Amino acid sequence: MTKLKIGLMGGTFDPIHYGHLVAAEEARINFNLSKVIFIPAGNPPHKKDYKVTDSEHRYIMTALAVNSNPYFEVSRVEVDREGYTYTVDTLKWFREKYDNSVELFFISGADAILDILTWRKVEEVLKYCTFIAATRPGYTSEQLERKVKEVKNLYGKEIFILEVTGMAISSTDIRKKVKNGQSIKYLVPEAVEYYIIKNNLYR
Ligand code: ATP
Ligand code: MG
Repeated sequence: MTKLKIGLMGGTFDPIHYGHLVAAEEARINFNLSKVIFIPAGNPPHKKDYKVTDSEHRYIMTALAVNSNPYFEVSRVEVDREGYTYTVDTLKWFREKYDNSVELFFISGADAILDILTWRKVEEVLKYCTFIAATRPGYTSEQLERKVKEVKNLYGKEIFILEVTGMAISSTDIRKKVKNGQSIKYLVPEAVEYYIIKNNLYR
């Protein structure tokens, strides 16, 4: 029996942009995923340095962004959890939700994979799902390959590298542009752009 494959994509999504969406779509197609579930972070432990936008706004923007893709969904699991959210807890939650006929894939960008060894309970994280490392402008394939080898040596787990269409877009850059009154058209879906304006985010 062929296993059902589900993709998970975690992120702060502050805001979600086309870099996230293209990586998820290309992972879906290349790995034959039946769907990709986007998981906006509740209160991410590694982003204490700037004030992350209220999770409800980030959840709604993610929902607006994925609405036009029948294979994309958004989950409230992290948004609804109290306190800091860790990927390990989220993946455990999904692993317990589905039976073993479902194979879980976690889609991450190159930057996230490069510091995977600093993640809480990384060995457990790697047990719950297979990682897809999406290339990202600014990070070299050599860096990524080295990290993938290191993980393989340490934990015996394969991480798949996926060359995705390069989108040199980051949420940090979008927040800056909005703050400076610059256009973010064609960097985020239109519905997200309008949501940001209507709710006066990133001003
Ligand atoms: P920030 O600048 O606030 O860190 P970001 O653009 O990096 O925002 P995140 O929400 O931090 O977005 O990223 C969520 C996931 O998406 C991470 O795994 C990240 O590596 C990946 N990702 C983000 N932008 C891209 C992109 N342009 N190409 C490929 N992967 C991306
Ligand atoms: Mg980031």
